[in-house]
Amino acid sequence: MNHPKEERTLVVIKPDGVQRSLIGEIIGRFEKVGLKLVAIKMLVPTPGHIEEHYTLDPEWKRITGEKRVKAAKEKGEKLETEDPFKITDKILEVLIKYMTSGPVVAMVWQGAHSTELVRKIVGGTEPRSSDVGTIRGDYVLDSYIMADTDSRAIRNLIHASGSSKESEAEIKHWFTPEEITDYKLVSEQILYDVNLDGILE
Ligand code: AMP
Repeated sequence: MNHPKEERTLVVIKPDGVQRSLIGEIIGRFEKVGLKLVAIKMLVPTPGHIEEHYTLDPEWKRITGEKRVKAAKEKGEKLETEDPFKITDKILEVLIKYMTSGPVVAMVWQGAHSTELVRKIVGGTEPRSSDVGTIRGDYVLDSYIMADTDSRAIRNLIHASGSSKESEAEIKHWFTPEEITDYKLVSEQILYDVNLDGILE
């Protein structure tokens, strides 16, 4: 088994995150928790790239549709359909439009529990109900109702992989091995060293 500190995860700052000038703020949050940036690039994704990205996980359609149904039940909203697959077919259409509307910043972050930590820092899908202190909770106000009313995707600044398995597949989808840099950060010594030798002179 690899050491937990080697876990890597994919983060994409979506077009609204770039347009809101939040690149530095978002990167800063991951740096401050102790994660290491090992790959980064700006690009305008193609529709095909985004469709493939969201369908890498065969469960994505069901899970995303079910999340929408659960949110509607909690708020007493009535949806046109409760079939998770019908809901996600529509979401995928508007998502492709959203994600290809401008440049995004794709990154790979490495560190212990990186997938879980990044998800915690990013917050839940719907910014309206994301916790205060998370990136989505602090920097944006979108909701399922607004997205549905205007037939568009939820603008929530960031994509973050949902599990370690997803992280692996998504990193491969966005980066070649040559684009990822292996290096040591001096701060890793205080985060991971067993004996903490070499601090005192
Ligand atoms: P997720 O994999 O849960 O992050 O979903 C992918 C992205 O699709 C989200 O980050 C939102 O931008 C968008 N999205 C998810 N669910 C909905 C929804 N019910 N309505 C509109 N957009 C959505």
